[in-house]
Amino acid sequence: MPSPSITLNNGVEIPQLGFGTWQVSAAEVEGVVSQALEAGYRHVDTAQMYGNEAGVGAAVRASGLPREEVFVTSKLSNSAHGDAMAAFDRTMDALGLEQLDLFLVHWPLPTLVDYVQTWRAMEEIAATGRVRAIGVSNFQPEHIARLLAETDTVPAVNQIEVHPYFVQDAVRADNLAHGIHVEAWSPLAQGTIFADPVVAAIAAELGRSRSQVVLRWHVQRGDVVMPKSVTPSRMAENAALFDFELSPEQMGRITALDRGTRIGPDPDSFAWLP
Ligand code: NDP
Repeated sequence: MPSPSITLNNGVEIPQLGFGTWQVSAAEVEGVVSQALEAGYRHVDTAQMYGNEAGVGAAVRASGLPREEVFVTSKLSNSAHGDAMAAFDRTMDALGLEQLDLFLVHWPLPTLVDYVQTWRAMEEIAATGRVRAIGVSNFQPEHIARLLAETDTVPAVNQIEVHPYFVQDAVRADNLAHGIHVEAWSPLAQGTIFADPVVAAIAAELGRSRSQVVLRWHVQRGDVVMPKSVTPSRMAENAALFDFELSPEQMGRITALDRGTRIGPDPDSFAWLP
């Protein structure tokens, strides 16, 4: 069963299920994304900092799928806040595509840069028509508040760390209240969620895998998800999410696993430049 789509605040539709490519090497990414497209994924998430945009673009172009049937996201490098337009050009060259579907500011870097200026540059990129939607990633509510107060474009999405150990309900609610759709990164907590006894129990109750249970929890919360796997059997498993349901009680047991702790960096202090 294919992924449903979600309509973003500018009318662009995004498949709710995406495919993550962080830590997929430049050497293997074309093959991996080709397998993901064969497995039915129609949304691929890459970034300048992943160093694999060329292979992602090659796989999309070689797939034989009409361009409008594959949603491609990339993200502005931490090192390119002062030079977003030129960096976007490099992304488009690497991907070999005429138009990108979604371009995100990867990190706000509040101690290093003026992300409001960066967002104005993103608005200029959007005005060229070469990207269908612009958004942010790892923006805290106070960062979003500044964009809303000081610029003209509401981000279409905020891609943030979300999984059962870090459910992020306050940030999600704030984003949704402003019409900003939430995308959940590291939705499987990079595999650490699989040992959880509650997830194991619900998987047994439903006769589904632990990964499917966690991804289905994300889907029922309404977030976009982008699990990563280089393993074809897992790609297929992670895409089979739309023919079963968690009960409200099962949803609640997973949400109650929240520990309030991140596995990734804290956006308020993260100041890494590649
Ligand atoms: P995930 O939470 O998707 O977990 C990936 C890990 O889980 C891999 O080790 C994978 O193994 C394993 N795995 C996947 N499916 C299964 C399965 N069915 N059974 C058992 N193990 C499984 O981690 P990511 O951190 O990669 O997050 C997903 C995507 O989110 C990234 O690829 C990236 O696109 C995005 N992201 C964005 C960030 C941002 O700052 N905006 C930050 C981090 C991620 P294997 O591959 O070996 O099969």
